[in-house]
Amino acid sequence: MDRVFNFSAGPAGLPLEVLKKAQTELVNYGGTGMSVMEMSHRSAAFEGIITTAEALVRELMGVPENYSVMFLQGGASTQFAMVPLNLFKNKKADYIHTGAWADKAIKDAQIFGEVRIVGSSKDKNFSYIPKVSAFNPDSDYVHITSNETITGTRYATLPQTGNLPLVADMSSNILSEQLDVSKFGLIYAGAQKNLGPSGVALVIMRKDLIGNCLPGTPTMLQYKIHDENKSLYNTPPCYSIYILKLVLEWVKAEGGVKAIEEKNIKKAGLLYDFLDNSKLFQGTAAKEDRSLMNIPFILPNDDLNKKFIDTAKKQGFVELKGHRSVGGMRASIYNAMPIEGVKGLVELMKKFEQENS
Ligand SMILES: *Cc1c(COP(=O)(O)O)cnc(C)c1O
Repeated sequence: MDRVFNFSAGPAGLPLEVLKKAQTELVNYGGTGMSVMEMSHRSAAFEGIITTAEALVRELMGVPENYSVMFLQGGASTQFAMVPLNLFKNKKADYIHTGAWADKAIKDAQIFGEVRIVGSSKDKNFSYIPKVSAFNPDSDYVHITSNETITGTRYATLPQTGNLPLVADMSSNILSEQLDVSKFGLIYAGAQKNLGPSGVALVIMRKDLIGNCLPGTPTMLQYKIHDENKSLYNTPPCYSIYILKLVLEWVKAEGGVKAIEEKNIKKAGLLYDFLDNSKLFQGTAAKEDRSLMNIPFILPNDDLNKKFIDTAKKQGFVELKGHRSVGGMRASIYNAMPIEGVKGLVELMKKFEQENS
């Protein structure tokens, strides 16, 4: 087995236990004599898979009864349009501009109505989370990106939006820490970072917000349709949902979100402690807002950045190149990254610092 430590921002590494379980069930799922890839989405076996997946989302995240759980297609990016299409009444919304993902959400909402940017961290290359406490009372909702994958920032405390529904793109930090779902109107996340493979997006939505889409909204973009049909209006991404179920079972076996959160704090802490004390490596996100999942850092020049990435790769620490808008490196350490991977990376950085300073 030559598995690497995969620091990819997404699609990201999956727990080895999940891949092995999928391997044992690949050609004959649960005695059906067929693969999950080959079975009807209306079959009893698949019904069992999707029902279990929903039940596990509800259990692990403590989703209240008055919320719908949906498994949709088109990634998190389709949600950028579905949110305004389904939540606009006044056709006005408040958005907080925290980076490249918030930017994409804003651009799609602008197609359908008026976007008020009530806070932005653009002035410092999105390296922090702006503090916003005032929202427009006639807005239909407030949109945040709870973790900016590229610049490595996260909301340590949520904005207080009063009666306005809070909508969050949680693609890169869902299930990474405990959360009070009842604080949100709608949560969405592409699966390929913390939940499973690409191809499915998880949507958790307060039921009273469902059913008011703008005229002309295509059927597949209406939450109402997917809610009423329990995510089986059309053929869903069956295999992605199956792997997502296995990942949720893994999270539960690990001790649930509380245990995962403790592990994540420990993992991120190892890297941040090193960065805070290093004379050579430097973290790029504001300390109070830094992500537990995506940790960007830089060396003094591009030659050293490249040298470090190459050195790490040779030792099985891969996908560490940072996004071009930040440069340097980025270590994405989602739930599935074992603590050994982070310890090994820090050792590598220590050694690199000794040899290059
Ligand atoms: C990866 C990511 C997306 C895009 O997800 P897709 O499933 O590729 O559409 C959106 N938002 C955030 C915060 C992400 O990290």
